[in-house]
Amino acid sequence: MFKLPELTYEYTALEPIIDAKTMEIHYTKHHQAYVTGLNTAVENHPDLQGKSLEDLLTNWASLPESAKGAIRNHGGGHHNHTLFWSILKKDSTPLSGVLKDKIVSAFGSEEKFKEEFETVAKTRFGSGWAWLVVDNNKNLKVISTANQDSPLMEGLTPILGLDVWEHAYYLNYQNRRPDYVTSFWNIVNWDEVAKNFEKII
Ligand code: MN
Repeated sequence: MFKLPELTYEYTALEPIIDAKTMEIHYTKHHQAYVTGLNTAVENHPDLQGKSLEDLLTNWASLPESAKGAIRNHGGGHHNHTLFWSILKKDSTPLSGVLKDKIVSAFGSEEKFKEEFETVAKTRFGSGWAWLVVDNNKNLKVISTANQDSPLMEGLTPILGLDVWEHAYYLNYQNRRPDYVTSFWNIVNWDEVAKNFEKII
């Protein structure tokens, strides 16, 4: 059975960037719904039991047709949110070390990377995510996915993600998604992003 990951901070920790009510609803209602949906899908497909979530998403294209929709939406939702919570913290840590060097070499500068990331986050039509991912050649890329699609479904490993569904920001920012996106950098735990990167390279 899949379950919600423990949060390592209080719902209030990310204020004023993300308010406590949004955190609580997002984590206990939205994320929980993806976990529940994923567990139902796996219960209904004994052939999928025992597989890791990464395995299910990476091999999504070869899943039984009857499981694809639920794994894409609920499995993707669970994986995306688990990563999201883990790379947030009160007061951002600075980008440094090997990851900083790689970002500068891939995008030109930290600022140019942030611009590119903000652009895909702000222009994702409807609901979805902005990502910093690592491809099979260990190159960094900025991408966006729709709905709860995971970059793993495209063979890309996400190391940093931003939820741009309205449920992630509407109480505080209403229609002002660009303000939410720009504020995000104040609560990024770059130490965790660097750990995600180091696991792959
Ligand atoms: Mn969400």
